[in-house]
Amino acid sequence: MKFTIFLLCSLLISKIQAQTILLDPGHGGKDCGAKSYISATKKTKPIKVCEKDIALSISKRVKDYLPKNYQVYLTRTIDRDVSLQERALMADKVKADLFISIHLNGSSSKKSHGFETFYLDNHNDIAIKKIEQVENGLLEKSETVINQILIDLVIERTAPQSKKLAYYIHKNINYSVKKKFKLKDRGIKKALFYVLALSKRPSVLIEAGFITHKRERDQMLSKKFQNQFARAVAKGIVRYFKKKPSPPIF
Ligand SMILES: [Zn+2]
Repeated sequence: MKFTIFLLCSLLISKIQAQTILLDPGHGGKDCGAKSYISATKKTKPIKVCEKDIALSISKRVKDYLPKNYQVYLTRTIDRDVSLQERALMADKVKADLFISIHLNGSSSKKSHGFETFYLDNHNDIAIKKIEQVENGLLEKSETVINQILIDLVIERTAPQSKKLAYYIHKNINYSVKKKFKLKDRGIKKALFYVLALSKRPSVLIEAGFITHKRERDQMLSKKFQNQFARAVAKGIVRYFKKKPSPPIF
């Protein structure tokens, strides 16, 4: 009897303390995201490489590296269309504590490279506006007006935690992936990504690297890179929870 009560209490405590993470692999289905082509050889045709596929692969690995007592969900587990609104709604549905969107960058300049971590906040950087345009996709004008009000409220409520989450994830990527893969640290930045605002949670959007940079693309296609990168992201999430005391239960 005593053992049963102990078991029930343990289960209850672990249930209350379970952290819920929603991982969001960018794009999917008809939306390839950023793309590049592996040049043709005498024997092969050019191969199209899509951001959506690498983002999904890294996200699945992040899930694998997170502790088993965390509740971890993905906004998509296969190659399918998911709107920004659907992704955000899922955050409510699973009652996510954190929302983490994983993307790859693209540029018209083949020289641009490096990783960067974004969190939701106001900013005035023109270079970042270009990335926002791509990641925000095609939203109706009426949606963006409503969203602006929501964004202000969400920023006020979540920016400090999002900044902290960005810091721990970015720090871990710096520590365990940057040197090994000669990555350039492009920093932690503020941005207005609607998917982060709509999720209404502490959230970050990670751009793992540039698919339009040949060396970086080839690295990101490798399992070795994907595993190391995913592990760093997972470690950052764990650090965030360790540093952030859980709210009192009662
Ligand atoms: Zn993207």
